[in-house]
This record gives sequence, C-alpha cells and structure tokens, in this order.
Amino acid sequence: MFARLPSKQLCVRYRGTEGEIKFVVLHAIIFANTGGSHLRTYCKGPAPLGFSLSNLLIETLPPAVRAVLFPYLEAVPLPVGTVLYEPEDAPRHVHFITSGMASIVATMSNGDAVEVGVISREGMPEALHLLGPANGSTRCFMQIAGTGLRMEFKAFEQHFHRDETVRRLVLRYAQYQSQMLSQLAACNRLHEGEERLARWLLMVHDRLDSPDIPLTQEFLAYMIGTRRSTLTLMAGILQRSGLIQYRRGDVRILDRESLESTACECYPITRRLFQELYK
Ligand SMILES: [Zn+2]
Repeated sequence: MFARLPSKQLCVRYRGTEGEIKFVVLHAIIFANTGGSHLRTYCKGPAPLGFSLSNLLIETLPPAVRAVLFPYLEAVPLPVGTVLYEPEDAPRHVHFITSGMASIVATMSNGDAVEVGVISREGMPEALHLLGPANGSTRCFMQIAGTGLRMEFKAFEQHFHRDETVRRLVLRYAQYQSQMLSQLAACNRLHEGEERLARWLLMVHDRLDSPDIPLTQEFLAYMIGTRRSTLTLMAGILQRSGLIQYRRGDVRILDRESLESTACECYPITRRLFQELYK
C-alpha cells in the first residue's frame, strides 16, 4: 500500500499548438512506501492538449530530486515524425516521454533502415548521450504521437554529474536501453518476419495500454525491417488467424494470447527487461 503524502502544487510550462509558451498549475499528489515513491500529477481544470504528465523515470526519482528538476521541465506535444535526435547529433534537449512512442532506427547509406529500439513513458531517448562525448549513428523520432517533458540537455547533464541519485537511475536506464538494442539487433538478423511483427505489436501494446495501434503501413514495414509487400503478407496471415485487425493506418490486437505464441523468444526477454527496469 502506498502512503499518501501532503499534496503540492506545481507550475509546469508547455508549448501551445502555435509554439507559444503557456503555464499550468498542477495539483500533485505524492505517494510513498518503503520500496520507493510514486508521483501522479493532475491539472487543475482541463488538461492542456490532453497531456499526460507521467514518466516512469521521473516518477522513480525521490520527491526532493524531482522538486529540483521540475522548474526546468517543459511539457511539449510530440506529433508523429518529431525528431528527438539525429545521427552524430549532440541533442539540445532530453525528453521524458509521457505518452506515445519513439523509435530508434539505424539507417544505412542507401536509405535502408531498421528499428533497433522503442521508447515510451518508461524512459528518455537521450540517456546514452549522457555517458560520454561520442554521439551515436542512430536516429530517434516519434512513431506514435504523444507528449513529453523536455529539459535542456546541458542542464540535465549537470544534474547527472552532480547528483548521484539521478546518475544511478539514468545509468540503470541506459543499461536497459543498450540491452534492448542488442536484443533487437539480434532479432532483426535471426528471426522470421511474422514472429518479429508479433513481437513488435506486443511491445507496442505493452507501452500504449490500448489494443488500438495507430500506424501507417509505411512506418510499420520500416520498423520490422521488411518490404511493404512482405509486411502486407505477414499482417494478412495474422489477420486471417484472428490475431489482429489490420486496416490502413490502424492495427487492433484481437487475440493477445495467440500473438504471444506467435512472437519470437525476444518478446518475453524484452518484456522481462521492461518489467524489471525500475524494481
Ligand atoms: Zn526475435
């Protein structure tokens, strides 16, 4: 059981649809137990732009550390296609994703690309950039529209070096992210398209808490690392078996249990990594 601590008010900045800066006062209720702490924030009045303001990495930080970070955080909408960082890029911001999903993709010189990581409200895509001066060869962008809390990279980097609690948690998340990257790289090379597609849909389902996954066929083929014609074939097999309903721009999961039986062994491995991340 969580013990409820005294409520607090927070002021969060966010960017409106036309780029203007707005402010909103939030009502925060902080829960704590012996194993850790949780924060839920609620807007007083209607939520701006339907924002969710919950990110598991932020929630796992002790309340005193969160209080230090909050003034630096800016809530931003993250529409489909928003680039969070480019290859060889020194990111301007870190993003704590609060809804939607980002993909990390490796792109070859001929334009071929494949997804090697997914990030939703469990983390922060720029974690590996904090480990040292080298910038990676991957690209990260929003694949499913959402929202996030962002902070200037340089400012967060200072907290990372100064505060051991922040550093330990980010290192833990960075380790998780590199384990996921390795598993997905192996999956893309060794497993068949149909089981990769099932694995991928389950991973997205876990992160969105919804059976409906808004996707274009083009994006989906890109993520699975296959041609669109092959993807249509694979999705058709899953649809005829009653596992999914696949329409232009939308996938609905109908039979999760059978989808788990179809997925490759990478799904239970990545699910365990996901579930144990902040334990
Ligand atoms: Zn696999």
